[in-house]
Amino acid sequence: MSEAWRGVRWWRQAALALAVLGGFAAHAALAADCPGNPNALGVSRTLVVDPRQHPRIGTMQYPETLPLADHEVVLTFDDGPLPKNSNKVLDILADECVKATFFTIGGQARANPEGVRKLLAAGHTIGTHTQTHPLSMNRMATDRARQEIEDGIASTKAALGDNADALAPFFRIPGLLRADNVEDYLAEQGIQTWSADFLADDWRHISSARVYDLAVSRLEAKGKGILLLHDIQARTVAALPRILQTLKARGYRIVHVVPATAERPATPTEPQQWLFHPAPDSIAQWPQVPNFVFVHVGSLPVPSRAGFDSAEESPLLGQAAPTRVPWPDPSEVVPGNATVTLAAPASSLFEIEGGLDVALHGAAMSRHVHKTASAAPGPSRRLSRREARRLALTNGRQARLAHASDRQTRRGEAQTSRQKTRAATTTRRGPVKRLVQVRKRRV
Ligand SMILES: [Zn+2]
Repeated sequence: MSEAWRGVRWWRQAALALAVLGGFAAHAALAADCPGNPNALGVSRTLVVDPRQHPRIGTMQYPETLPLADHEVVLTFDDGPLPKNSNKVLDILADECVKATFFTIGGQARANPEGVRKLLAAGHTIGTHTQTHPLSMNRMATDRARQEIEDGIASTKAALGDNADALAPFFRIPGLLRADNVEDYLAEQGIQTWSADFLADDWRHISSARVYDLAVSRLEAKGKGILLLHDIQARTVAALPRILQTLKARGYRIVHVVPATAERPATPTEPQQWLFHPAPDSIAQWPQVPNFVFVHVGSLPVPSRAGFDSAEESPLLGQAAPTRVPWPDPSEVVPGNATVTLAAPASSLFEIEGGLDVALHGAAMSRHVHKTASAAPGPSRRLSRREARRLALTNGRQARLAHASDRQTRRGEAQTSRQKTRAATTTRRGPVKRLVQVRKRRV
């Protein structure tokens, strides 16, 4: 390393340290300034990101995620605005002077434009989430996907009116059902695709207490990250105050993310900060499969589309679920050092029908991480056959551990769990294949 380069690095690190210190100062100031709540959680810092530099984020599916420090959290809310519950979420966030990122559905924005304007007025970041929330973007023609994306953006901009420029170039794919053509189109438009770092399963038929438990336990397991929630869900409204209280009590800090503009340059960062577990000398150590993904798959009541809380109020969310699982032919998987590019699984895989968002993250991630570009600028990361096998074995161990834990905590599931465990031990093809087998046995 040259002296000149060392000097550059030193200055960059010094700038980063100052930025972090500035964040703490802002946190103290903002929390103290929160009207009526001197102990508010507040926002610790604002992170300015350049979508073109980091087009895909969220460790559930991609190598990169937001460059957060330990105990930093970014809150995101999907599928609104739906006044009944979205307004309550806004009130709860306002009470704590917390800023979040909302991914709106175009149809919802058309139906409730005032709800979009409320997001802006409250200072939140607004991204989009398609026009009609199709759970099929993993197998959608590019033209159709483009239409969904652009219509969603147009509808949200229409709701914002004169403030349309406030819309952030942030996008989340419904159900996280990613596809190369969709991501490529978004990247070409300078739009950042947001996955997540962890979920709280708040679209499922679980109690608000369970949503709270999952949000907190998964955050504790990772220590930082992007939490995906749904502002349209009553159980999320019920769980959110306690989630925020716990974040505050345990020393977590909220980061507000905004897009870079000509006047607002991106926050300086090092490339490795965008990696959740930087391990430049061994890609096989990355990405780790979040073991929570498998804990509850198959162990919870299967929600019906009609049971989706807002299905009646929001028919947009009841889109047809895929009926076929488009597993790639193993012969199509490019061996050796080549980049592996696979289609996302259909949402019918876990017998969870439409109206829910994020059933397939673990399965999707376990395959799609292989193709995604690395965090550092340059060519795509590639897994050798040996590395891929090692990763699959790691996934298997985590899945088995998760299932074992599940057996202990949920009654009446022993038989199912044994089946899953058996399935998990019968193949080395990774969690996706195993779950297919589980499903076949259950049908
Ligand atoms: Zn959604």
